[in-house]
Amino acid sequence: MLPTIAEYVMGKQIRAGMSSSATALGAGPAAAVEVLDERLGRTLQVIEALWTLLKEAGYTDEQLSARLAELDEAEGMVDGRHVPHPATCPNCQSKVAEGLPRCQFCGAEIG
Ligand SMILES: [Zn+2]
Repeated sequence: MLPTIAEYVMGKQIRAGMSSSATALGAGPAAAVEVLDERLGRTLQVIEALWTLLKEAGYTDEQLSARLAELDEAEGMVDGRHVPHPATCPNCQSKVAEGLPRCQFCGAEIG
C-alpha cells in the first residue's frame, strides 16, 4: 500500500510506531540534524514529484512563482519564508509539524 505523504516524509520512524524518531531526536543535536535532514530530503522529493505531475498537467513555473508570492504575502510579510503554525499534541503536548495527521513523537491523532 502506498504510504501517505506524511508517512513517506517521516520514513521508517512513523512506520515503527514513531518511537525511534523521538529517540533519535533526543539522542543529541547531531542525530536530530541527521533525522531532520533525511526528512527534508524526502519532503523535497515529494515536492519534486508533485511538481513534475503538475507540469505534465499544464502548470507553469510562472504560475508556481505567482502562487508562492501570493502565499508569502498572505502571511503578512513578503520575505520568502513560511511561518509555521504548529499544533500541540493532545497527548504529549509536543509541537506537531503543520499538516501532520498524527504526532511525530507519540503517534496521537491531531484533531
Ligand atoms: Zn504526542
